[in-house]
Amino acid sequence: MMIVMQPQATEEQIAHVCERLRTLGFDIHKSAGRSYTVLGAIGDPKGIDRRQFELMEGVKEVLRISEPYKLAGRSLHPQDSILKIRNAQIGGPCDIAVMAGPCSVESPEQLKTIARSVVGAGATFLRGGAYKPRTSPYAFQGLGQEGLELLRQNADQLGGIPVVSEIMDARQLPGCIGKVDVIQIGARNMQNFELLKECGRTGLPVLLKRGMSSTIEEWLMAAEYVMSEGNKAVILCERGIRTFETATRNTLDLSAIPVVKEKTHLPVIVDPSHAMGRRDKILPMARAAVAAGADGLIVEVHHDPDNALSDGPQALLPEMFQQMMEECDAIAHAIGRALARPTKTVPTGS
Ligand code: PEP
Ligand code: MN
Repeated sequence: MMIVMQPQATEEQIAHVCERLRTLGFDIHKSAGRSYTVLGAIGDPKGIDRRQFELMEGVKEVLRISEPYKLAGRSLHPQDSILKIRNAQIGGPCDIAVMAGPCSVESPEQLKTIARSVVGAGATFLRGGAYKPRTSPYAFQGLGQEGLELLRQNADQLGGIPVVSEIMDARQLPGCIGKVDVIQIGARNMQNFELLKECGRTGLPVLLKRGMSSTIEEWLMAAEYVMSEGNKAVILCERGIRTFETATRNTLDLSAIPVVKEKTHLPVIVDPSHAMGRRDKILPMARAAVAAGADGLIVEVHHDPDNALSDGPQALLPEMFQQMMEECDAIAHAIGRALARPTKTVPTGS
């Protein structure tokens, strides 16, 4: 932390700030320039609200030097994290992982059809919601535990690929053990700190969506909550933020990808489905996400979207998903990467 004193600050005011810093355990590096005196506070600023210094007499501004996200940031962990989850990988120089499946698991037949088609087209993670965060309490809320069982069964039949599914409450965690490989924390729960801490204690990888009105720093601090409980397996997911624009469901903040990748070693993926909210606009954003350096994509697919129980308008038809995979692979090759391929062949029968 650096404290810049006002040009007219008195020696008493400077001494007062120094005394306060010393009381808090900081060493002080004082540099007196022609106009400004700058006090470098050397030590661990953990838990100290720097605004208390901004209000002290004679202080012009307080600058933070180190980032507050110690575990998610690159200073202690400069190299990219690579997460190995079952037979898939994500992060770093690994191939770009695609997670796909329905918004909600609706029935055994629905999941079987969609899971087979997305894995057949190259998805290496199966996504599906069993606990759904719906705006209306009267809308379909998900199949709950039954949905998780169906996800596991289908993923096991398809080469044992990892399952990604959202939980909204820590009480849903025990039922995920042995069923879900990546716990999704949705945009609405990005700052549910108790839930984040509980996920941190399980050790299961966490896919952390960006809150719809969250800054990048708030998002990284949410990752820090999970990591500070000992769980380093966090995947960040940009899924669009709320802006004044209404033409799309949200505004996909693609600029976040290079920014976040510079700040953190964690894998960063993009969800163009919830960003756009309509299937005819998802492919260009998926291509753009790959071009911008995303480590993966997560997309919703449905074979009968008009009858889907949630998010039908943004569900890609299977043939569109196939096209997305081909186009994104071409873009990936143009930047020296590739889409990850499933490691085992997909059975066609049963
Ligand atoms: C979802 O993935 O189905 C979902 C509800 O996502 P988000 O939290 O990004 O809205
Ligand atoms: Mn959805």
